[in-house]
Amino acid sequence: MRSVDRESWPLDGAGGKISFSPYRKAKPYIVERIGNYCSYCERKGDLHVEHVVPKSKAPSLEEHWENLLLGCVNCNSRKDNKNDARAGYMWPDDDRTDRAFEYRSGGRVALNPNLRERERKRAQALFDLVGLGATGSATDSRRSERRRIWELAEEVKVDLKDDKMRNLATKLAAAEGCWSVWMTVFDDDSDMRKRFIAAFPGTRP
Ligand SMILES: [Zn+2]
Repeated sequence: MRSVDRESWPLDGAGGKISFSPYRKAKPYIVERIGNYCSYCERKGDLHVEHVVPKSKAPSLEEHWENLLLGCVNCNSRKDNKNDARAGYMWPDDDRTDRAFEYRSGGRVALNPNLRERERKRAQALFDLVGLGATGSATDSRRSERRRIWELAEEVKVDLKDDKMRNLATKLAAAEGCWSVWMTVFDDDSDMRKRFIAAFPGTRP
């Protein structure tokens, strides 16, 4: 799961904080900072502003920049308003979630087996909260989308001779989403990994 930095609260021309009332107004600003990808499953698509701490649990954070990410319908509905706070979970805007999970062929995701106990618990809590390992259903294509993009990335990897091809492959990755899948398939290609980090806005290097 990509670890992101949304940076500080966007300001208006006079240097004041932009109001996100209603909170949906924040979407284009979030997209600009961290890209149009689900903050949890990393898919592109129909995304909504997602509250890290649910609105019902922390009304004061409903329009607060630092509580807002992007979520797809599946991650959003799984997460619902189950968590009361940030505590106890890893979060992509707070933690190195990019080191917390392992992406595998077939669209599978698992916890990184090398995590220390305290990190493992928080990573597992996030994994369960959004149903990251869900096998999929007629209405949940997260896993099948990772599988499709994994196969695409492997196909692309075969023929990356020159800089032009590498640029095109990077653009394709950004257009398709699922950053972690690209990073995993290109595990042994540090040049491409650097390109992916740069091409997905707000990615922590
Ligand atoms: Zn999602």
